[in-house]
Amino acid sequence: MYETVLRRNPGEVEFHQAAHEVLESLRPVVDKRPEFVDASIIERICEPERQIIFRVPWVDDSGKVRINRGFRVEFNSALGPYKGGLRFHPSVYLGIVKFLGFEQIFKNALTSMPIGGGKGGSDFDPKGRSDGEIMRFCQSFMTELYRHLGEYTDVPAGDIGVGGREIGYLFGQYKRITNRYEAGVLTGKGLSWGGSQVRTEATGYGTVFFVHEMLRARKTDFDGKKVVVSGSGNVAIYAAEKVAQLGGTVIALSDSGGYIVQEGGIDLDAVKELKEVRRGRISEYAEKRDARFVADGCIWDVPCDIALPCATQNELDESGAGALVKNGCIIVAEGANMPTTPEALRVLRRGGIEFAPGKAANAGGVATSALEMQQNASRDTWTFEYAEERLHDIMQGIYGTCAMTAEEYGMPGDYVAGANIAGFIRVADAMLALGVI
Ligand code: NDP
Repeated sequence: MYETVLRRNPGEVEFHQAAHEVLESLRPVVDKRPEFVDASIIERICEPERQIIFRVPWVDDSGKVRINRGFRVEFNSALGPYKGGLRFHPSVYLGIVKFLGFEQIFKNALTSMPIGGGKGGSDFDPKGRSDGEIMRFCQSFMTELYRHLGEYTDVPAGDIGVGGREIGYLFGQYKRITNRYEAGVLTGKGLSWGGSQVRTEATGYGTVFFVHEMLRARKTDFDGKKVVVSGSGNVAIYAAEKVAQLGGTVIALSDSGGYIVQEGGIDLDAVKELKEVRRGRISEYAEKRDARFVADGCIWDVPCDIALPCATQNELDESGAGALVKNGCIIVAEGANMPTTPEALRVLRRGGIEFAPGKAANAGGVATSALEMQQNASRDTWTFEYAEERLHDIMQGIYGTCAMTAEEYGMPGDYVAGANIAGFIRVADAMLALGVI
């Protein structure tokens, strides 16, 4: 099957990597459930239901016409409408969107919510762009995408480069074109216009809730633990915040320009102001504080008990993993999607580090998006405490599912196998029930 994926999707290396990891886990499932083979479920699950690629023309502040490429891959809708974020980053191409969409199918299934898997984005680079340029780009992007969306069809959210501001412009244009206040068509909305409490915090908080369960299984907790978090965007900031609330100390954060280290613990309010308000660089944090900025290093060289890669794909490689093992790290949990290379994962396993894959550990974001859809459908708004409690329950549920499934299939403690197998079975059962479509 992997050979088929390679042949049918040439050059899409990230998609190959994501598919390989899942396919590798499915061998024992195929032995136990031959009906999945008879119905060609694995072949079907590797082929997106629909792939949309479109031109996004827009005008920059100097009056120059710019052209970007937009994508939406609607991968699998056996469990519900396609659900998954939009990424605006110059590295975006079909292979990235497909890897993210493929992961999203299993992640969404693990949440036990009624949502299918999809992903989208553009090779547009928002860095250095004015507010007006961002708005014009978002409006042009939505002018094509709107016809593929709907609260029962496809419901995007944010991802790298797409936060509350972008979701606002996208929703505004959708509303204008369709003349419908269809709040459930996008998630990650502002609190005053249909958003949910805790959506902003959900991915980071959820990752830390998952780690908390791993620590509980080891009969310990965050108290006194040193934690390194890569990135300083949405996921990283709120992962760091929850670590601090639970008694851990976040000693390092990064962006694509380098990383900062502060042994006494990083001042998260200052990071929020720097990144969410001023949209500055992480190096600026170190200028006025007792912190070190390292431009050309590797954040995984910083000794820690727990490492949370929360920036981007393939950011933790073999040598980074080697440094974590050498320095006595006990847990790596992926806040980002596929940040750990396959070689790094082998090193972590050999070194006895417990590992939580993104499709389980970072599922809190999409789960809270589904809670946002639930509130939109019932015209209700929940309190922060209630939404966080729901998120916490969901993450405990995902942890339990992964741990139990790994045990059932003879691989106790292997959360990668547990997540892949449990997510796959839920989708595969629905696909069987829905016939050959
Ligand atoms: P943001 O855009 O808010 O932040 C991304 C952070 O990662 C920034 O600090 C950015 O630095 C850094 N980064 C991005 N690319 C690179 C790179 N090539 N090298 C080094 N650093 C990099 O994105 P999110 O926090 O939303 O997303 C982070 C990860 O989490 C992604 O993998 C995403 O798919 C995943 N995720 C996000 C969810 C969400 O709810 N937002 C849900 C589930 C997963 P710089 O600003 O310098 O580029």
